[in-house]
Amino acid sequence: MNTGDPGLCVLIVEDCDDDVVLLRRELKRAGFDLTWAQVQTAEDFKATLQSQPWDVVISDYKMPHFSAPAALDLLKQSGQDIPFIVVSGTVGEAAAVALMRAGACDYVMKDNLSRLGEAVRRELREAQDRRERLQAQADLERTRELLQLAIEGSGIGLWSWHIPSGGVWANERCIQLLGYDPATTDLDLTTIDTWRQRIHPDDYDRHQSLLQAHLAGLSPTFDCEIRLRHRQGHWIWVLDRGKVAEWDQADQPQRMSGTFTDITERKQAEEERHQAAAEILHNSLHDALTGLPNRTFLKQRLELAIQRSRRYAQAQFAVLFLDLDHFKVINDSLGHLAGDEILVSVAHTLKAMVRATDMAARLGGDEFVLLLEDLDSLQEVEVVAERLLGELQRPFLVQGRAMFLNASLGIVTSLAHYQDPTEPLRDADIAMYKAKARGRGCFVLFDPSMRQHVLDRLQLEQDLRQAIDQQELDLHYQPILRLATGQICGFEVLVRWHHPQRGLLLPADFIPMAEETGLIAPLDRWVLATGLQQLTTWQRHYPHLAHLALSFNVSPQALWGEDLMPHLQDLLAQTTLLPCCLNLEIAESTLIHDIQAIALRLQQLRDLGLSLTIDDFGTGHSSLSYLHQLPVSALKIDRAFVTTMETHRHSAKIVETLITLSNRLGLDAVAEGVETEAQNQRLRSLGCDLAQGYWFAHPLPAASAEQWLRAA
Ligand code: C2E
Ligand code: CA
Ligand code: CA
Repeated sequence: MNTGDPGLCVLIVEDCDDDVVLLRRELKRAGFDLTWAQVQTAEDFKATLQSQPWDVVISDYKMPHFSAPAALDLLKQSGQDIPFIVVSGTVGEAAAVALMRAGACDYVMKDNLSRLGEAVRRELREAQDRRERLQAQADLERTRELLQLAIEGSGIGLWSWHIPSGGVWANERCIQLLGYDPATTDLDLTTIDTWRQRIHPDDYDRHQSLLQAHLAGLSPTFDCEIRLRHRQGHWIWVLDRGKVAEWDQADQPQRMSGTFTDITERKQAEEERHQAAAEILHNSLHDALTGLPNRTFLKQRLELAIQRSRRYAQAQFAVLFLDLDHFKVINDSLGHLAGDEILVSVAHTLKAMVRATDMAARLGGDEFVLLLEDLDSLQEVEVVAERLLGELQRPFLVQGRAMFLNASLGIVTSLAHYQDPTEPLRDADIAMYKAKARGRGCFVLFDPSMRQHVLDRLQLEQDLRQAIDQQELDLHYQPILRLATGQICGFEVLVRWHHPQRGLLLPADFIPMAEETGLIAPLDRWVLATGLQQLTTWQRHYPHLAHLALSFNVSPQALWGEDLMPHLQDLLAQTTLLPCCLNLEIAESTLIHDIQAIALRLQQLRDLGLSLTIDDFGTGHSSLSYLHQLPVSALKIDRAFVTTMETHRHSAKIVETLITLSNRLGLDAVAEGVETEAQNQRLRSLGCDLAQGYWFAHPLPAASAEQWLRAA
């Protein structure tokens, strides 16, 4: 076998074996490496045809039981495309033509057999060509199908626009995008105008100008995201994308085709991402509890305000630093929920007060800041400050109960020529502390000398921690007299601090700081213990004064703190004093809780046998209507009314009213701050029970106070 020759499988239809030999020889001579089979009947032909793939069929024209036309017929029926060559001695021209018509490929005469090799070769080539064409067609068909599937699967709509006529062809998907069923809708979407009408008005101009730019050859492709009106009225987002596909001879665009892709989901996701980003930004600049701008945001605004104030003289600003008085006490005793409720209410009040161009921010805790911009004058700031303090003094509803608040305000203005946003905040904070020291519920304008005060205050705090141990504290006693008899009935205990460097310090210099730092608790404990020791000594020396009483000031922290009751019980257990000789003065402004809580607390103290006085009465906004429910024995009229009662009719009226009120409720009225004989006389005539003040005696060291006892 000659393996170098192309293999050829040939099925020979022939009754004459000699002819078969001739055929095989001829094909071998032509260079084929043969595999062959011989058949003579229709049955054999059919069976052999199926038995293996054949490259060519070579058939005699006429045989006793079979013929070329019959074989050709069977081959066709089998559906196989195998070249069919007739090799015969005698065939008329008509028969040959008929055979060729029926699908035979070639006709070779037996006496010209040398042509056979060439004929086979050509037919093989043509058959191969036919097969390749068929394969290519099938491939194309499959590709088309796949493309169709891909387009349908991707939901892309296809369109084509004939520019001169305005006619539009759009596939079903385009119509489905708009919410219509292409099978049933009679919606006309066959012109460019019907499509344009569906574009969102806000997208229309952009779409048009991009399209015109593309038609004018300014962009290689047209690409535009637009909203189209859906059948149900809402808008869907589509990516409209296309390209001019045809031009006329004058190079004018004739046809444009492209796609519609539904990008609504992507757009919504983008929108959500934007919203989430905006929310994160908002959260980073706002306080979660109150929704007010936070410190970061405030600083950004302040930075701008500083820049503007440097550029334009009329763009002056002010910063109001606000701190709620005794907020810690409320928070600790009423709970954080109540505290939060108050902070939210305060935030509302602040927001309602400022103009849209101003800013109310929360720095944290109970610290708020107002930034007022474009101020005409400083007076304007003071008006706002007054109004603000007034607003905050109105009762706040907390857990359904009315409560009274107070705040201290520190103010700075851009006149100080700040460079950095931290500076006005720092100075306003300093001024705010000054306001607290001045007695709370007021505002203080910053002045640079206060900065030193802050440093001093820090030093003071450190010093006070040691003062108690180092015996630097001292008590002064201010006599309290019964006006009707002029007899002394007790003393108010007032603490003093002999500071090693700064000399004598009065309570205003250190009590507010002690309250803020918590140092007030050990201080008050020391005052109580020391005062009671002194009283025990005096009562021993002056037995006839067995009812001599001492009045102690109780700070709010102490009043609402948990230590007070056990500490008092301890003290009382260690002394022989009558508990009623121990009087606690509780400032009206301390009574910030609801009436039940206050009544309960005061009753606990009363149950120890102590007597109670409401101090600084008339300033704390407490409701007169519940006074009779409180187990107190005296009301101490605030010094401010007493000292001004001769000069201010209003004060005189208040003093008179408070005395009448005390008498009616069966309480002692105590006047403090009596400085003149006229005040003394007036109070007596009004029926005031008790009084103290410089007119009678200043607060005195124990030794001097004792003079009063000797004389009594
Ligand atoms: P307060 O309870 O209103 O005490 C009365 C204040 O008025 C005392 O000031 C006293 O010196 C002053 N005063 C007395 N008579 C007159 C007068 O005729 N005219 C004038 N203008 N003032 C008079 P002080 O001692 O400076 O105390 C100030 C505040 O400090 C007290 O006000 C009290 O709230 C607080 N405080 C004093 N000692 C203590 C203490 O030991 N513990 C606590 N928690 N607070 C104290
Ligand atoms: Ca007092
Ligand atoms: Ca007082």
